[in-house]
Amino acid sequence: MRGRILKGIAGFYYVETIDLKVYECKAKGIFRKSGIKPIVGDNVEIEIIDEDNRQGNLTDILPRKNCLYRPPVANVDQAVILFAIVKPDPNYNLLDRFLIMMRQQNLPVIICFNKQDIATKEEQKELHDAYEKCGYKVLFVSVKEERGLDELKALLKGKTSTLAGPSGVGKSSLLNKLVPDADMQIGELSRKIDRGKNTTRHSELFYVKELSEGGEDTFIIDTPGFTSLELRDVAADELMGYYPEFEEFEPSCRFGGCSHIAEPDCGVKAALEAGKLSNVRYDNYRIIYKDLKNARPDYSKKKNSEK
Ligand code: GDP
Ligand code: ZN
Repeated sequence: MRGRILKGIAGFYYVETIDLKVYECKAKGIFRKSGIKPIVGDNVEIEIIDEDNRQGNLTDILPRKNCLYRPPVANVDQAVILFAIVKPDPNYNLLDRFLIMMRQQNLPVIICFNKQDIATKEEQKELHDAYEKCGYKVLFVSVKEERGLDELKALLKGKTSTLAGPSGVGKSSLLNKLVPDADMQIGELSRKIDRGKNTTRHSELFYVKELSEGGEDTFIIDTPGFTSLELRDVAADELMGYYPEFEEFEPSCRFGGCSHIAEPDCGVKAALEAGKLSNVRYDNYRIIYKDLKNARPDYSKKKNSEK
């Protein structure tokens, strides 16, 4: 029987089969056989051991289209990053780090700013200008007042999207709108292990029925809220590559390989002064550049592998 991993907890994997039944599975031997650890989003084969109690074994992991390392999820088409326009104010540094991480993994990103109902036009314009210029799809929504959700849904339809964001931005509220039956999908099965539904320390994949009509299966992955992100495998000198809006001004830099930090006659800094680049983005660039320069590679690697 073919299925998809919704969630993995304490050695159990919750697999939804094509007829939308969920089985609690163990991954006996699969590790040894393939050397691959099953993760949320994996397409798998299971054998059913006990139909009444919905228990089975994972017997195979099908080839992955892709696999993200943070959060670890497989077979994803795009990432939706949710921030609030205000309350809480966006943590721009965190947003940029997330964008860098997703670009590293070649994943398209939709930036979704929530709480439009309590934000001013000016606040929205600033965000729009800063991020749309870098080639991202930027949406403004109010989950509370159900504004802008149709546009978001249209972008989600037929795809698997991983949904991320810091806490307090409205992620649970959004998920409730998209998956009103979220509690039921895994429901009783994992409750005995997971305890307390609101401790989202694990990623979980949901089938979005409303958007799956016409055979366009739509999934959304809820991921744990984060407060910081450590970048992996990015060298300070490569950072500019993650700021695509700098590119058109780089030919004006006097020095080849200009870092746009302290060099004289820098095209990027000139563009910034002329108001052609976003201060927010440039400030982040400078902060992250310095962080990367100061990072002790061995140390940061060790920290990452703990996660
Ligand atoms: P999470 O921590 O990201 O899961 O955020 P929640 O969904 O728990 O929402 C955090 C707070 O923001 C709650 O008090 C929500 O009622 C509120 N909230 C969510 N969406 C909106 C919105 O569109 N507008 C406003 N004004 N408040 C919202
Ligand atoms: Zn420069």
